[in-house]
Amino acid sequence: MFCPKCGNQMDEGSKFCPKCGNQMGSAQTVAVDDSSGLGILIPRNTLALWAYYLGIFSLLCGITAIPALITGILGLRYAKQHPEARGAIHAWVGIIIGGIALLLFLFILIISILHG
Ligand SMILES: [Zn+2]
Repeated sequence: MFCPKCGNQMDEGSKFCPKCGNQMGSAQTVAVDDSSGLGILIPRNTLALWAYYLGIFSLLCGITAIPALITGILGLRYAKQHPEARGAIHAWVGIIIGGIALLLFLFILIISILHG
């Protein structure tokens, strides 16, 4: 017979493994922590949400267009890596609105400079 713990070959009917000291006959039930499939938290794409809100806010205040674009790109990348997180639409909205707001902001800035 072989020791179930260490695999050492030992005499039939031995009560203890001479190698590792494992007691024979005792239930060798290993408590397996089977947490797989339970309590998996779906990661939320917070970056995409940030992009969305910053994008909308950038229409009022142009300065948030830059972080909207950054978080939008990062959120889009996150959505690709974690399809369960979703948020790709929010990220795109952030990028598009952020992009438009940035162009408007730059346009207004250039005009104001030209008009000095
Ligand atoms: Zn053993």
